[in-house]
Amino acid sequence: MQIERGQARRRGHMRSRMLAVLTVVALALLAFALWRVGPAPHIEIEPGLPGIGPRTPLTVRLSEPSRGLGDYRIELVQGERTFDLVEESFRPRPFWAFWGPRELSSQVQLAVGRDSLADLQEGTATIRVVASRAGTWLRRPDPAIAELELPVRLSPPSVQLLSQAVHVRQGGSGLVVYRVGKSSVRDGVQAGDWWFPSFVLPGGAEGARYCLFAAPYDDPNGSGIQLVAHDEVGNEARLSFISTYTSRPPRQATIQLNESFMARVVPEILARSPEVEEQESLLASYLVVNGKLRRINAEALVELSRSSRPEFLWTQPFRQLGNSQVMASFADQRTYMLDGEAVDHQDHLGFDLASYRRAPVEAANRGVVSLARYFGIYGNTVVLDHGGGLMSLYSHLSSIEVEEGQSVEAGQILGRTGQTGLAGGDHLHFSMMVHGLPVNPLEWWDATWVRNRITRQLAGGS
Ligand SMILES: [Zn+2]
Repeated sequence: MQIERGQARRRGHMRSRMLAVLTVVALALLAFALWRVGPAPHIEIEPGLPGIGPRTPLTVRLSEPSRGLGDYRIELVQGERTFDLVEESFRPRPFWAFWGPRELSSQVQLAVGRDSLADLQEGTATIRVVASRAGTWLRRPDPAIAELELPVRLSPPSVQLLSQAVHVRQGGSGLVVYRVGKSSVRDGVQAGDWWFPSFVLPGGAEGARYCLFAAPYDDPNGSGIQLVAHDEVGNEARLSFISTYTSRPPRQATIQLNESFMARVVPEILARSPEVEEQESLLASYLVVNGKLRRINAEALVELSRSSRPEFLWTQPFRQLGNSQVMASFADQRTYMLDGEAVDHQDHLGFDLASYRRAPVEAANRGVVSLARYFGIYGNTVVLDHGGGLMSLYSHLSSIEVEEGQSVEAGQILGRTGQTGLAGGDHLHFSMMVHGLPVNPLEWWDATWVRNRITRQLAGGS
């Protein structure tokens, strides 16, 4: 009896003690929850350009890893004016909850500038991000604010043409001399998808530039050829400068393919070109070589041209391979026939010159060897840099006698003709390129043209 009464008393004590503990815990939790505001969201503002111009990309990142993001807005402030850019609302987790959905982070990509804000003025502007903090019944904390001040530039660089008259032919080359304002960070000639960068004009006044450019062989009217200058925030000046443009439509040519030709050239090219793989048939492999590998090689030549020396390395006109006969000239649009069926179309963008087997191949002019190796459809190839974006290419060689980086004089032997790569017989495939775009070499072989269109233009600007 005694024992039972004692146990009941002890149980009663325990119950009230537990109740007290629970009350304290509940009160503590309530107090904690009522004071449990979210931390200030972390805000990052990252502009894609060093200032605001026509359309500057902007990335804003927000994160709040505790109760999650609430509302935020992004605005641009200039003087008294505020432009609203973006607003978004999330629901942070309630203060009393330790579970449930929440948005931990958000990334916004937008563009700010004159294109979307017509009233924007030159000067400076502030990008401001205001992000609310999760509150409680009792507490409404101030929002987190991040600001970034940026310069606002809205006028494009000045461009002043110094060349008197610029005449070009479709598939040909040209040189233009001009002067740009200090804010230009990238200027040159745009012709469709082609970009021809400029160089400082040797001996020219401040801001004087020269640009060797080409009229693409497949551009019949040249209306898209313009001088373009960009500043660092994306303002752009454009100027048409071509005085006359002579159309020269590419000619049509037909190439007869046959099994023995493909069987001779395809395995060699595949074995030495890791960029392409053997296909299920000889014709399919040939088409990959003639199409995909041709394109890869063309892109590599554009890339190579980016390393061209800023000044011309030559003074004399260019020379043609001695005692050679022209087998195919510049810009033939070729249709490839196999057993009476057209199986492919490609543009032939060089001169095919035949002399005799293993004839010595001379440098067309002074330059530096920028490539000397097996080069896809071109087989053993030498590319010379003549400066200013001008390069010459010698391909299908049986042997190469120069090394990359070596300087060569006009007439110096580069190697011997052959039929490596995509070649039907021993010949030299020769091409001249302006910033990687093949151009008609006839102009460069013509001393009068070089004097009038290149040398005089250069001299006229200084
Ligand atoms: Zn050729």
